[in-house]
Amino acid sequence: MQSKPSDLAPAPTEIELKSAQQELAVQWSDNHQSSYSLRYLRGFCPCAECQGHDLGDWTFIESPDDIGVQTIEPVGNYAVSIRFSDEHATGIYSWEVLRELCPCEACQSLHGDEHAMKHYPTH
Ligand SMILES: [Zn+2]
Ligand SMILES: [Zn+2]
Repeated sequence: MQSKPSDLAPAPTEIELKSAQQELAVQWSDNHQSSYSLRYLRGFCPCAECQGHDLGDWTFIESPDDIGVQTIEPVGNYAVSIRFSDEHATGIYSWEVLRELCPCEACQSLHGDEHAMKHYPTH
């Protein structure tokens, strides 16, 4: 018996851009909820230009404080591509990456020192 990938990994059931709050909210198929600030999402853009080829060793990329999102486009049924207001548009955020980036405390403790929040400069 083979199970589909969607049976194994959680996928978003809803992705909502809250421009006024500069936030992206994601509802997951396993009832988890994630809320990302756009500065955080832009900062950990998973494209090769931003992160090199070693995903998981997170590098924070600075962007304007008022960074926004211009478009969010689905990529197949496994990811979204996000175009930010600084014209950066090469980031493909797979469900796996989005889930790994979830800044909630449960996800932080799941990933420990490897979680992106550990590399997120607060100011
Ligand atoms: Zn990037
Ligand atoms: Zn989480």
